[in-house]
Amino acid sequence: MQEDRASATILMEYRKGVNVAKLKLAFYWAASCGGCEIAQLQIGEKLLKVTEAADIVFWPVAIDVKYRDVTAMPDGSIDVCFFNGAIRSTEQEHMARLLRAKSKLLISYGACAGNGGIPGLANLYNRKLILERVYLETPSTANGEKTLPRTEYEAPEGTLQLPELFDSVRTLPQTVQVDYIIPGCPPEERTTWLALEALLSGQLPPAGAVVSHSEKTVCDDCRRKKNEKKVKKFYRPFEIIPDAENCLLEQGLLCAGLATLGGCGAPCPQANMPCTGCYGPPRGVTDQGAHFLSAVSSVIDASTPEEINRIIEDIADPAGTFYRYSLPQSLLRRARIP
Ligand code: SF4
Ligand code: SF4
Repeated sequence: MQEDRASATILMEYRKGVNVAKLKLAFYWAASCGGCEIAQLQIGEKLLKVTEAADIVFWPVAIDVKYRDVTAMPDGSIDVCFFNGAIRSTEQEHMARLLRAKSKLLISYGACAGNGGIPGLANLYNRKLILERVYLETPSTANGEKTLPRTEYEAPEGTLQLPELFDSVRTLPQTVQVDYIIPGCPPEERTTWLALEALLSGQLPPAGAVVSHSEKTVCDDCRRKKNEKKVKKFYRPFEIIPDAENCLLEQGLLCAGLATLGGCGAPCPQANMPCTGCYGPPRGVTDQGAHFLSAVSSVIDASTPEEINRIIEDIADPAGTFYRYSLPQSLLRRARIP
């Protein structure tokens, strides 16, 4: 871990920078799907305001700046780095540390960086199990020589060094100190712009804040009617067409709205799909999965243990449902593999 980068001095330096020159921005992508890179462009024409006030000095997916260019930059010379993706390899950890050193403000962008995200579900397994499954066992894999990835390879040009996969996926804040967290898979345009407006104006939220329009949960943003929640059967989304008026959880769909920070505008329940929890835990909640599980337990309408068991058997993939985006950030962090 670095020194406390979110100190008053760093913020003051940053604010001075806003007033005297164009900001220097960087974007980086670790273990993620690429959706966050696209989400950063969703601000549309507001991008012109960003480019008026800032220069982009590093963004591997969009501009041709090399690793050596970043290492040559003085420490603290990037004003703001948006870092998306979880940390699951030595290369990603190295880049997180490098960009932390080069940036005045390091922002965790999206669910994978902040909470582990979908890549974090790899913590239900370990490196050995994952590599064997992917390179040896899948029916579509032709690997007669049973070759597994290795960290060194002798090529005619010399020895190639390759990154090593860790046993556990970590979040960015578990790897280096971050100054702000932007939630979402990917973050909604309104959340990205909330953060960019604050950065461009120098009116920063308190250090360490999770940037969102809401202090409450997705349920508070959701316009569906909320009645007494009593569930006798759970369904997967493809099994029913829910009515468009009433709470989806009351209709037996596992909606994570009540265990998820609001601010996205609740687009999923509005589109008849349950919230899957991508904005992470509500404020004051440490373990989103436990919070969701506890909420779901409280709505089960059963009078005998047998009936409870029958109802919960409907929940396919409990770990992936309750900890879809947050397993590495949870209290357990990973499965114990003997
Ligand atoms: Fe809306 Fe889902 Fe909350 Fe129900 S549980 S109010 S559908 S967000
Ligand atoms: Fe994410 Fe839930 Fe909002 Fe959909 S409704 S964007 S899953 S937090």
